[in-house]
Amino acid sequence: MPTSWYDTSFRKLFFDFHSAGAAVGLAARFDAERWAERVQEANAQAVSVFTKCGFGYSFYQKGTVRYQHPHLPAGLDMLEAQITALHKRGLRALGYYHTFNSEPIARDHPNWIERDADGKPRGLSICLLSPLLVEWMLPHVEEIVTNYAVDALFFDGTYAHSPCHCAACQTRFAEASGGLAVPKDKQDPAWPRFVAWKLAALQEVRQSVCDTIHRHRPEVVVAVNWAYTPRMPEVVPAGLGALVADIHPDDQVFEGSYLSSYWALLERPFDVMNAAFLQWWGDWGCKPALAMQQEVAPVLAHGGLTWVGYQMTHEFDVAPAVMGELGKTLAFVREREPLLVGAESVPHVAVLHSTEANHPQEEVAFFVNEGSARGAHRLLTESMIPHHLVHEQTLRERLPEFGAVFLPDQRYLQPELVPALAEWVEAGGVLVATALTGTLDDDHRDTGRFALEGLLGIRYEGVYDQSHAYFEVTDTRLTPGTLDMPHLAEAKFAFARPVAEDVECLARLRKAYLRSDGQSLLRWSPVGEDSGYPAITLRPVGKGWAAYFAGDPFRAYQAKNQWNLKHVVANLLRLTLPDPPVEVEAPAWLEVVVRRQSAASAPDGGERLLVHLVNQHGDRPVDGNYRCTEQIVPVQGVVVRLRSEARPSRVTLEPAGAVPEWEHERGVTTVHVPAVDIHTVVAVAA
Ligand SMILES: [Zn+2]
Repeated sequence: MPTSWYDTSFRKLFFDFHSAGAAVGLAARFDAERWAERVQEANAQAVSVFTKCGFGYSFYQKGTVRYQHPHLPAGLDMLEAQITALHKRGLRALGYYHTFNSEPIARDHPNWIERDADGKPRGLSICLLSPLLVEWMLPHVEEIVTNYAVDALFFDGTYAHSPCHCAACQTRFAEASGGLAVPKDKQDPAWPRFVAWKLAALQEVRQSVCDTIHRHRPEVVVAVNWAYTPRMPEVVPAGLGALVADIHPDDQVFEGSYLSSYWALLERPFDVMNAAFLQWWGDWGCKPALAMQQEVAPVLAHGGLTWVGYQMTHEFDVAPAVMGELGKTLAFVREREPLLVGAESVPHVAVLHSTEANHPQEEVAFFVNEGSARGAHRLLTESMIPHHLVHEQTLRERLPEFGAVFLPDQRYLQPELVPALAEWVEAGGVLVATALTGTLDDDHRDTGRFALEGLLGIRYEGVYDQSHAYFEVTDTRLTPGTLDMPHLAEAKFAFARPVAEDVECLARLRKAYLRSDGQSLLRWSPVGEDSGYPAITLRPVGKGWAAYFAGDPFRAYQAKNQWNLKHVVANLLRLTLPDPPVEVEAPAWLEVVVRRQSAASAPDGGERLLVHLVNQHGDRPVDGNYRCTEQIVPVQGVVVRLRSEARPSRVTLEPAGAVPEWEHERGVTTVHVPAVDIHTVVAVAA
């Protein structure tokens, strides 16, 4: 992947300017020069410019395809003026393009509007699979990139999310499926086929948009909001220059951390767009800078870029106080840039989140079930275990670099992954498969056997038919930190019979109690009889280990806060990977992310290992309010241990550059970090 200016575009701002046709007084305070100055004063390197808003209007003069906003002051070309003023100051202009909503198109082409199952039009939402794309949108995009020097184009709402019953969708799906109708709901037998068709159709839409832009201007960086996130785990196509998502507002610290742990290994620059709003786009409140600094910290730790969002008034203005808080947030980013340039992620633990995750027949959906992925990220983060979520392509390519791999209920495994994993375990890898991993064939039908049977040493004998069951941990190596009781897990359990002599059983699978009518005692049942099957097995294979959990502990943790399983998983990793490259001890957990900075980018010309410590604690969202951290409680007395034969030449705490207390003994460097406020990096120079 060739590097582009985008790789070092660390500090970006985004301002919504969605303007309905009835927005009078539009752009009354528009002053492109002053605006560019204010963006620069807020420490940004780049800012959004609107090419088409969420009401379908543009704010420029050139070309003929666009619908100009009816109240755009006569002769004013806002797009041209902004780009010129920004470029004059060395700032980049990031074009925003809303792909579906449009007042004027809904008026002029009512048959292009999306339709419900009963044929009712869906407001202003224009179907991307209608003639819109070819007859209007691609020419419009072409008009923008050929007339205006946008440096990037960011498309919003360009993914499959629900069935549309417009004439175009009906015709196109019927043609593709041999005459099937667009399903009304998930119960329709054609549903899986329809979802696959629509996902592919939207891939083509995105491809044609990229192609149209790059035919004229190959240098323009194209990004698509929310595409290629864990909820839509597709392989990123070549035309996509960057990954962006305006994350959900409930907890932007967690969301940014989660998304970054997946995007970090996708080999694209990525932006996690947090927002200054107190609730969501469209409210006019503003978080304190400290809250936003905490939100961007995990993103930076994972090597991401920041693009903080807010909105401007219809007059084209943003309150100075808001610009001030955004400026402080970006100053926090700038202070850390010497730690970000030329650094790359160091793989340690992988969690597979397959691109095939939405194919198991029972839960085909446009957005995959992220329960296991989110649970895995939360569980491992809180256990201070550095990790990445990866899809199967990344896993295959980088397998030798990982010490441990989790396969959390990954029902379809690519056939070529199976021998690769076996070879890797033999050479010392730790594999942990859970639940129904590897039980589907290429057509996503149940095979009745584990693809990993030979490696795990267990045979698949069926599925427990209740919504929950119990882990009864019998091996005391897994119990430290847990309560002495069976642990309820709300997850799908498999019955797995050990078939190799060297399989150890570390926990029993206990069923839930059932009444005489076959129901749970209450919504959940107390622990019932032993199932006759193990809940956790462990087998030595060559220099490595192959472990199995009959139910997915990550999903169970996410579904019910089953915290005991967090310790069980961490204890298992401690047992099988006793000497991890980095270990952290702290009175309260910190997110730990390990990166390596090349000698060319490090300040003293020597390669550095960077251990990012992020303090995610603070605030407590209640009653539907979202997280907004006003105070940080520093985590004090942190100890970081790194394995390296040679004594480091220098250890510092960044970005301040302080020299901590540290020692090197018998291949272990121990660093004492007095306190972690929001984000501290232990920089260890070779
Ligand atoms: Zn449609």
